[in-house]
Amino acid sequence: MSVETPTEPRLAGALPARQIPFARTVIGPEARSAVQEVLESGWVTTGRQVLAFEAELAAHVRASRAVAVSSCTAGIELALRGLGLAPGSRVLMSTDTFCGAASAIAHAGLVPVLVDVDPVTALPTATHIRAAVRAAGGVSAMVVVHLGGHPVDVEAAADAAGLGLDRVIEDAAHALGAEVGPRRVGSISRATCFSFYATKNLAIGEGGMVTTDDEELADRLISLRLHGMSKDAWRRYLPGAGWRYDVAEDGLKANLTDVQAAVGRAQLRRFDADQARRAEVARRYDSQLAGLASISLPPRPPSGRHAWHLYAVRIRPDYPLGRDALIERLAQLGIGTSVHFIPLHRLTWHGRTSVLPPDGLPGADEVFDETLSLPCDQNLTDDDVDDVCAALWQIGRSR
Ligand SMILES: *Cc1c(COP(=O)(O)O)cnc(C)c1O
Repeated sequence: MSVETPTEPRLAGALPARQIPFARTVIGPEARSAVQEVLESGWVTTGRQVLAFEAELAAHVRASRAVAVSSCTAGIELALRGLGLAPGSRVLMSTDTFCGAASAIAHAGLVPVLVDVDPVTALPTATHIRAAVRAAGGVSAMVVVHLGGHPVDVEAAADAAGLGLDRVIEDAAHALGAEVGPRRVGSISRATCFSFYATKNLAIGEGGMVTTDDEELADRLISLRLHGMSKDAWRRYLPGAGWRYDVAEDGLKANLTDVQAAVGRAQLRRFDADQARRAEVARRYDSQLAGLASISLPPRPPSGRHAWHLYAVRIRPDYPLGRDALIERLAQLGIGTSVHFIPLHRLTWHGRTSVLPPDGLPGADEVFDETLSLPCDQNLTDDDVDDVCAALWQIGRSR
């Protein structure tokens, strides 16, 4: 990646005259009119819009099947249950991620084993994975997270854990549009779980999708997302449909509605263009901040494609303000930022209920003290990015 001459950018706008929010959910006119049609159609819950959204998303990630669910968290829980592991089995996951996957592991009757991360990438290395597996006395499965949209070599991670890819679930809440080498995230492991939460790179508000090439698993997920009722139970109120169903196993109420699917389909149509803009935003941050030595930039993946759900920098100890003080200073200037993530071992419940390595998780602790997510979405203008960078430079010069 070429880096332009490191110079200090000029303030484009008059801060703090305008606000640059950390994230904004934009539901465009196409989505709004699609929703209107659904609302007038007489069928608003899981139906034809969901079926179409599933087919379109599966095609986009090149998986043979996609099953829409109410959230990525529910998707991870159902996918894990689909693996049929013995209750209490151990499941490896990074400590440096959102708590949803850890909750999903616990709700599936399994136990999270937390693995530390490399402070530069904020991702576990093969060495970390091997050490955590050894300390835990083995694991039965693994949840791989493509943190921030940075593509993780899923096969190498599974290998380090001594697992086949059929025992790996991907938390791809940040990774729609990411590629591992030449492969789209969505068909690499047994099941890949996406989120359409309000701040994600394909935003509906709430919603999720599980993609897989395993037909049997997909059919099972369709049943599990609706109380474990026999497949296609949602059709029972359609004209001519039968009313009989069976419940063969215990499921969740975790289906997606047609209203949400209509928004998702419209968002998916502009998704590639949105992602291209996100990549431009990331490149602009890279070049504007390259000369500011006290801020470390997010590493680029050696191959594949980053989804740039997050643009997370590290505020190094020689920057004049610590991370927390900088967040407040930027907020005063109208610039919204966030922190991803508070490591799971530092959250009361997950710290108490997960298996932790005996030597702690120092890599994740180091990242947590310094990490700062800057605004990064397709709606940012070049001026927005320049203003954020100018503010970081200005504060960086102060003492
Ligand atoms: C947002 C998020 C989730 C949860 O997604 P929901 O759709 O809200 O359940 C899971 N993992 C990561 C890494 C996330 O950021």
